[in-house]
Amino acid sequence: MILKTKGKPWRIDEPIIGRVAFDAADDAEILIVQDIVPDDLRRYKAILTSHDIDTSIDKAAVYAIPGFGHLSAGDIVVVNSDGVINTQYRIDSTHNFLLFTERCNSNCLMCSQPPRDKDDTGYFYNIYSQVIPLIPKECAELGITGGEPTLLGGLFFKLLEQIQHQLPDTEVHCLTNGRSFAWDGFAKRLGDMSFKRLMLGIPLYSDFNLLHDYVVQGDGAFEQTVQGLYNLAKYDVRIELRIVLHKPTISRLNKLSKFIYKNLPFVEHVAFMGLENQGYTPHNFDKLWIDPVEYGDDLAEAMMYLSDHGMNVSLYNSQLCVTPEEIWQFSRRSISDWKNIYLDKCEGCTVSEECGGFFSSNLVKHSLGIRALR
Ligand code: SF4
Repeated sequence: MILKTKGKPWRIDEPIIGRVAFDAADDAEILIVQDIVPDDLRRYKAILTSHDIDTSIDKAAVYAIPGFGHLSAGDIVVVNSDGVINTQYRIDSTHNFLLFTERCNSNCLMCSQPPRDKDDTGYFYNIYSQVIPLIPKECAELGITGGEPTLLGGLFFKLLEQIQHQLPDTEVHCLTNGRSFAWDGFAKRLGDMSFKRLMLGIPLYSDFNLLHDYVVQGDGAFEQTVQGLYNLAKYDVRIELRIVLHKPTISRLNKLSKFIYKNLPFVEHVAFMGLENQGYTPHNFDKLWIDPVEYGDDLAEAMMYLSDHGMNVSLYNSQLCVTPEEIWQFSRRSISDWKNIYLDKCEGCTVSEECGGFFSSNLVKHSLGIRALR
């Protein structure tokens, strides 16, 4: 799935945000011209075209774009001054997310979106404060991710408030490491919003503080995250815990599930997640990778323990043929459509409709136990 294209920019001084249209009659801010350029372009902020530069057209534009097959009418894009066009919202997808920042206060061994130490606050705030009003009101789900979104500080809350009020029926899921909520005032500010359609997805890698800190590569991260979880619970913010399945933490998985039941029973959902071979993971592969066939029993024990104690659990990014059958009931097809694949080996598998499949980045590295079930 292509989410980015590039052409020759013309008269673009700052990012232009808008919905694209292929037909001049449609309601949109940016027109894609594939044939004849309409006479009246006044209502558009910009045009995108595969034509060569035409200096007689007095309009911000990107010329010589190789193709538009990845775009649909109503998609929201950002047209940058260097001619790069990023798709921010896909009208036909249920897997849209807003990347609030690329900065992070953690540096996790398996981060799929390695942080960048560059202040992008103004850039992303400017973009999303314009994108959010253009998202259709019927949008069912929207993700927020990073980096660490809370590093936007006050602007994090401003964007959340925009989403809360302008998308009144949208379920919102925000990935955060939870550390900022160790500050009571930060958690209270979120609680004061009473944003009940918002769920925070917070990773907890181990019940043992030093092991969590090792995965996060941050001293004191465990204490901050756990304090953050308690503060959020105090202010009635909905929480999902996320547990990534990797070699350093598997042996304590059962202890972690007991820790969660005993100390964090207020969380609404616990998601166990297969490893994505993306970002830092290929560089730390030997430290992180464990074949799912090797941890199936540990995983089943941890998940059944929580489920038997009344907690809501799910298994993400996993393949049924390497998962113990007793926990198939928790498996969800969770991988975003644009990076979800199946292997040639899956051909003819009778459970492929229910199976979560693979990240496209796991094409080269996946379980040796994969086999079509008949
Ligand atoms: S063979 Fe493929 S589709 Fe079937 S369970 Fe395994 S991973 Fe899933």
